[in-house]
Amino acid sequence: MPAAIEAAPQPLTALSEDEKMFQASVRQFARQEIRPHVRQMDEAAVFRKEIIRQFFEMGLMGIEIPEEFGGQGGTFFQAVLAVEELSAVDPSAGVIVDVQNTICNNALLRWATAAQNARYLPRLAADMVASYALSEAGSGSDAFAMATRAEDRGDHFLLNGRKLWITNAAEAGFFLLFANAQPDAGYKGVTAFLVEREFPGFQVGKKEDKLGLRASSTCELILDNCRVPRENVMGEVGRGYKVAIETLNEGRIGIGAQMIGLARAALEHATAYARERKQFGKTIGEFQGVQFELAKMATEVEAARLLVYNAARLRDAGMPFVTEAAMAKYYSSEVAERAASKAIEVHGGVGITKDYPVEKLYRDAKIGRIYEGTSNIQLLTIAKKLLGK
Ligand SMILES: Cc1cc2nc3c(=O)[nH]c(=O)nc-3n(C[C@H](O)[C@H](O)[C@H](O)COP(=O)(O)OP(=O)(O)OC[C@H]3O[C@@H](n4cnc5c(N)ncnc54)[C@H](O)[C@@H]3O)c2cc1C
Repeated sequence: MPAAIEAAPQPLTALSEDEKMFQASVRQFARQEIRPHVRQMDEAAVFRKEIIRQFFEMGLMGIEIPEEFGGQGGTFFQAVLAVEELSAVDPSAGVIVDVQNTICNNALLRWATAAQNARYLPRLAADMVASYALSEAGSGSDAFAMATRAEDRGDHFLLNGRKLWITNAAEAGFFLLFANAQPDAGYKGVTAFLVEREFPGFQVGKKEDKLGLRASSTCELILDNCRVPRENVMGEVGRGYKVAIETLNEGRIGIGAQMIGLARAALEHATAYARERKQFGKTIGEFQGVQFELAKMATEVEAARLLVYNAARLRDAGMPFVTEAAMAKYYSSEVAERAASKAIEVHGGVGITKDYPVEKLYRDAKIGRIYEGTSNIQLLTIAKKLLGK
């Protein structure tokens, strides 16, 4: 075989032996340990503590954390595989693991000091859930218009304000939180703080009652003269905007993974139902009209997976990935919504009842086009690259 062919890159969906084993173990865990509780957790809008404990035991909360800190020493791509597999059973499970790994742990590994890493990484790998707190009531897409302030008091900062929509906040012990320490400097005052739940003046507020992703907690945070030691500033004062942007660039790939897991589940449920349900003396899967819908769904799921895997592989290879991450998140969230909607239609009337899992997937899909940058914000990122801005 010519050398050029031997050295050809692998197909994007080809997994190493380690990745295959990892994927299989998460898939089995999700099906055995999470699936039996999905409906109850959705109805109660509470994620079982026991399953979060199992996430930690399996190493799923510290996938990229180095082994010296008690983590798995794995790759970003493995985190993506985990989020996809969990989301194929429950997208709420997927987002808990996603925020921990692709955003919070990742940000520390990249920006924290050695002392900060020594203090927090072992706990993030072992038993401490993390949240990422950027958004506020008045600042969503325009995130750096935040009103939360950090007043410099020498050896500590006093934080005042409110954060909104914070995923994992009900369970979290640790918050990567952004506040403006120099409001006159605009976005160049935004600073990243490592905040512990027990810090004086910190409180988790109201939990949102949501359409979908109900078992994943989404809460307000209240900062009332919250005292944060100076050593808990991550990166430099006034450089938090960079931390926020760059962590979200990576996080978006994780949301893409959540959405391909969800879309794959919708396709699997629709296919299984099409094999069983009979009308006009045949299974509905024998009608070309149904076959074509399944074929279109399968094609879109595959295309979305290629975008997500490619962005993750680029990131692990240290290559530019920002545009690809925006494309992956934009497209996979569109595909997830379409696949869940079509899966309901393939089920007919029972598809909108709670006796079948597809109505929940439809509700869960909606958030994909909103958080970690709405679809419009992803399109802005892609367009900026196209137009060289
Ligand atoms: C369930 C859930 C979980 C979340 N988790 C977190 C979390 O863990 N941490 C966190 O910090 N935040 C979190 N968020 C917040 C989320 O990131 C924001 O909701 C999102 O960024 C959109 O902001 P917004 O809701 O204020 O909408 P807005 O920014 O007000 O947008 C409203 C509409 O205007 C459009 N729009 C805005 N600006 C532009 C523009 N320049 N060009 C074109 N269109 C535009 C948007 O696309 C959207 O359609 C979460 C939100 C939800 C609902």
